[in-house]
Amino acid sequence: MTDPVFFVAAVPPSGAFELDGDEGRHAAAVKRMRPGETLVIADGSGTWAPATVIANRGRGLSLTVGQAVTDEPPALQVVIVQALPKGERSDLAVELATEAGADEIIPWQAARSVARWDGSADKAQRGTEKWRRTAREAAKQSRRHTVPRVGTLATTADVVSEVGRADAALILHEEGSVPLASSPLPRAGRLLVIIGPEGGLADEEIARLEGAGARAVRLGPEVLRTSTAAAVALGALGVLTGRWTWTASYPVGPVPAVGADRYGKGMASSDPDCLFCKIVAGVIPADIVARTDTAVAFRDIDPQAPTHILIVPVDHQPNVAATAAADPTLAGSLFTMADSVARAEGIGEPGYRLVANTGAGAQQTVFHAHLHLLGGRSFTWPPG
Ligand code: AMP
Ligand code: ZN
Repeated sequence: MTDPVFFVAAVPPSGAFELDGDEGRHAAAVKRMRPGETLVIADGSGTWAPATVIANRGRGLSLTVGQAVTDEPPALQVVIVQALPKGERSDLAVELATEAGADEIIPWQAARSVARWDGSADKAQRGTEKWRRTAREAAKQSRRHTVPRVGTLATTADVVSEVGRADAALILHEEGSVPLASSPLPRAGRLLVIIGPEGGLADEEIARLEGAGARAVRLGPEVLRTSTAAAVALGALGVLTGRWTWTASYPVGPVPAVGADRYGKGMASSDPDCLFCKIVAGVIPADIVARTDTAVAFRDIDPQAPTHILIVPVDHQPNVAATAAADPTLAGSLFTMADSVARAEGIGEPGYRLVANTGAGAQQTVFHAHLHLLGGRSFTWPPG
């Protein structure tokens, strides 16, 4: 069984530590932790340390704390925009979304929400505080080291601007024509998942959200309650995007900007087992020399010339011919990117060589489209 998690304001340096306050009381009096038992203390923002109970003081625990660790956040952050559900379904929605891994939860005053927090500032504040407490308890329950951030009450206009600054946004909608499972999804960045209230989304809301770049999708054939939809979507996204495959201990570099504006053309696809997709997503480190929304240039790990850089589209295709077939403009942009990288590297003159190994017979070893940019030495012809 995974060790229980208790939250502290800040994770202390290794050594002796007294766990007091509500968490200490809970660990000592409710969980009745005994000397020798192990637990985790976490700050709720991703930093945590293992600890062992030395003594149970009834109102708290005396601990020895080990070395602190800071988890890398997932490359793809899922933000749940939750229309206010009725009564206690509200807590259930937050609890389930937290257990299923939401990184952030934004309460939304949707047009048809029966529950209303927008009557007074006081009511909105109490609502947010309650959701924060629920998220914290659920994070503990599911042994998370990170409590999802709970935002303040959002209006529809606020949600529209959130859509604008996200890398992609999905509206869960029974009548959404595209199933989530076959919808293009980003692997990194900020993904908004918008969930309507019991009464459903108003047409006007859908129009405004879609106008800002959100896309309506459906889950399975079952009609879910507003309180369950987020958790079910998080489960599906966990599998579809690699969030449940890539462990948090991978170093996460800068994330590619896979903009909502790419939706129209079909969003970048990705393969969770592909080396270059992982480099593009920042999951595997590389010496990146240039990056645009659609392509990344990084140094080859086994250089065949003084300058050897790979030009790689973000979109996963098995080779450059497939990239050209899927998106000729993108394929063309790989050449212009190669030329500008070559100039920046000082190999524009006397010249450089671009190579696209296509197929195993031509020595292609990584089946994600790429151009080799080689320069800084003399070349022979024909090539080997
Ligand atoms: P190809 O043989 O044309 O498929 O090219 C694949 C290239 O990827 C080779 O030149 C490898 O040296 C290079 N490569 C493999 N792994 C990495 C990595 N982790 N970082 C950078 N380049 C790599
Ligand atoms: Zn790939």
